[in-house]
Amino acid sequence: MSGAEEIVTLTASQMAKAMKKGDLSSRQIVEAELEITKAVDPKTQSYLSTCFTSAFMVADAVDQARAIGQELPELAGIPIAVKDMIVTKGVETTAASKILKGWVPPYDATSVEKVKESGMPILGKTNLDEFAQGSSTENSAFHPTFNPWDLERVPGGSGGGSAAAVSSFESPLALGTDTGGSIRQPASFTGSVGVKPTYGRVSRYGAISMASSLDQIGPCARTVEDAAMLFDAITGYDPKDSTSIPDCPSSALKAALEGKGGDLSKIRVGVISEATGEGFSKDVTDGFLRGVNLLSSMGAKVEEKSFPNFAHGIQIYYILMPAEVSSNLARYDGMRYGLRIMPPDATAFSMMAATREEGFGAEVKRRIMLGTYVLSSSQYDKMYAAAQKVRTVLINDFKKAFESFDVLVCPTSPTTAFKVGEVEDPVTMYKNDIATIPANLAGLPAISLPVGLDKLGLPIGFQIMADRKKDEVAFKVASALEEAVSRENDGPIWSKAPRLWKSGE
Ligand code: GLN
Repeated sequence: MSGAEEIVTLTASQMAKAMKKGDLSSRQIVEAELEITKAVDPKTQSYLSTCFTSAFMVADAVDQARAIGQELPELAGIPIAVKDMIVTKGVETTAASKILKGWVPPYDATSVEKVKESGMPILGKTNLDEFAQGSSTENSAFHPTFNPWDLERVPGGSGGGSAAAVSSFESPLALGTDTGGSIRQPASFTGSVGVKPTYGRVSRYGAISMASSLDQIGPCARTVEDAAMLFDAITGYDPKDSTSIPDCPSSALKAALEGKGGDLSKIRVGVISEATGEGFSKDVTDGFLRGVNLLSSMGAKVEEKSFPNFAHGIQIYYILMPAEVSSNLARYDGMRYGLRIMPPDATAFSMMAATREEGFGAEVKRRIMLGTYVLSSSQYDKMYAAAQKVRTVLINDFKKAFESFDVLVCPTSPTTAFKVGEVEDPVTMYKNDIATIPANLAGLPAISLPVGLDKLGLPIGFQIMADRKKDEVAFKVASALEEAVSRENDGPIWSKAPRLWKSGE
């Protein structure tokens, strides 16, 4: 196998098989990704930085180990990109913020450690909205990222860089973080697969904190099977994360392969009635309902489920998330690491104020102020404590719903990808996450996969949520649906993405 185009359009699972057979080396894959990235990244701007030199070293080590017959992990030699919200030892990590520019972490996140133990070459750090706050990747302090399907549109956010890298074939796999939808909404905008694991199934150690009770690291991929392989590689108990779940063996890949059989006769699907119709575009609703029909054609028992509190998730989130953001981001004070601005005759206070003024962007400042306000003594009971109570109500609603259903489904996002600069006011931007936020508030696993294209040829996302620790059920259903969608569309949706290395694309 030689041509870069041919190599980068393989799925991770196909790459793994070709390497096992001796038809392909990890070095060839990294070379191909480098060639494609050089041509494509100036258009998508998926990466903030790349690290191909160390990627080649890892690739060569894997190739040598394979040549002498060493037993290797499933993903050995398969490259990956890492959202710049996740710390990487020796590689600059910025959270796309000026305040962390130049910071080189002295340690790896646990998920990055696991990726390295799996023998995966890391290609680079992907772009995001500053501190993962946004739904379009327009809020990066450095540059926006563009949607490979239409370069005038956003790739979603906050993890637009990871989603764009995967869907433009700059990397077969990527890591993301999801606090309110930042893996799934970009997946839906870019025709890729995004997984938010059950809270606690993937260690948060080394994920830069945004809102700790909601943050979760997870896989970005082109196929459900690839996402499942990555899930299995990064999941597991970690004593360094106090919220990590012990004794939860993972078999996402097994579940994904099982799903390909297309038998969903034992699966009860609840269709959230509040997440179609008003507020959701007609194309998105139609695409979603076609997906629901496919599930029932595979034997699933499909019923509508009214979930009146579902849409309240966003209100709860925009009280609790800023509260956690305001306390988590208090550590960026110019004292310990990152940016330091020294005004003339600086005092500690004026240095901190000047550093934070210069280092944080507008959206981050907005959330710090909102958070400080809802935690202030006059507002705490009225807002923060009240929102915590409603969060518990929502969690209990989900618990009850999962007594009758194995999965709950809805569109991932109310619209397909919008144009760069099109959404100007923050509240309209926040509404993008109406369907993804509830899973974070309840700690549930949720997967977004493409279910079709809208009239403009842009991907539509379908979201599958399962009960806590039942990530495998979501993988099984997602995989079955992916096969059915692929049959209906003469091939998988991801394969229809423009080949941006060709001129005119
Ligand atoms: N778009 C959401 C927000 O801006 C979600 C962010 C995330 O998941 N990191 O808060």
